[in-house]
Amino acid sequence: MIDARPANPIAPTVPLDTDGVHHGFLRLPSSRDESAWGSVMIPITVVKNGEGPTALLTGANHGDEYEGPVALQGLACDLTADRVSGRVIIVPYMNTPAFRAARRTSPLDGGNLNRLFPGRPDGTATEKIADFFMESLVPTADLVLDFHSGGKTLDFVPFAAAHLLDDPMQEAACFEAMKAFNAPYSMALREIDAVGMFDTAVEEAGKVFVSTELGGGGTVTARSARIARRGAENVLKHAGILAGEVEMVPSVMIDTTVGDCFHFSERDGLIEPMVDLGEKVDKGAPLAAIWSLERTGEKPEFVLAKRTGILAARHFPGLVKMGDCLAVVASVVD
Ligand code: CA
Repeated sequence: MIDARPANPIAPTVPLDTDGVHHGFLRLPSSRDESAWGSVMIPITVVKNGEGPTALLTGANHGDEYEGPVALQGLACDLTADRVSGRVIIVPYMNTPAFRAARRTSPLDGGNLNRLFPGRPDGTATEKIADFFMESLVPTADLVLDFHSGGKTLDFVPFAAAHLLDDPMQEAACFEAMKAFNAPYSMALREIDAVGMFDTAVEEAGKVFVSTELGGGGTVTARSARIARRGAENVLKHAGILAGEVEMVPSVMIDTTVGDCFHFSERDGLIEPMVDLGEKVDKGAPLAAIWSLERTGEKPEFVLAKRTGILAARHFPGLVKMGDCLAVVASVVD
């Protein structure tokens, strides 16, 4: 049998399986006008000490989300091999071209990394990054923590999330790791469109997967940065990779797997929010008024909550376009 699978051109500049702390890059050849034989250099840190589980920690899967990158830069600087049992692989800027451009998607090819999994070894730059993760990093991992937040167009209450899965054992392991992250909110999640997501690919590979949404608006706050860093260390403790007890404070369990949680704008307009993040809203109550962009004297269109719960996410910029996600109302689980 001839293996018809082309080789992925991405090469790590550091060993992935040698004891110690290794800071380097995943080097992706990228021939372009500015650099004929150039490369995309994706920073990576590998901290390994003997046998034990492997955790893969990733940020900037979407390039305009900053809690993960901030927390993982701190962790990559501070982790010493003697504190680790097993291995921690840290990639703070998964989609480095998008991150460097402060964009959700890659300026190289328009690629939305979190819609292109499992990727292709001979595809676009973004597809090659996805393929490298699935072929070379995820198979070595027991647990994957992928940081997200709302980016420039959404803002979230800070939560860690786990998905409902077909395998009850795997689902329970994901929920335990999500609870260990211990964000102020913990979310049972169903995606709007799961195809092509890193989440889905990692879960299909049978791994424990935790994601987050820790804020948004294309920035990071002191609070959300602290939540991210503490959550990462908690998950490593939960996995037995770092010593010490998981630091637990009360977390509100919220759910978007039942009912009509997602509210989309049916017109372009100026948003007047009527509920802030974390506030309770009753079914039928207005979430926002959408004012005309064209004229005065025209009544706004009210977007009404389709269910009772708390406002878990909102459109961030002050103007909304038809079809944009305006709000997510999550139910609070007792
Ligand atoms: Ca995201």
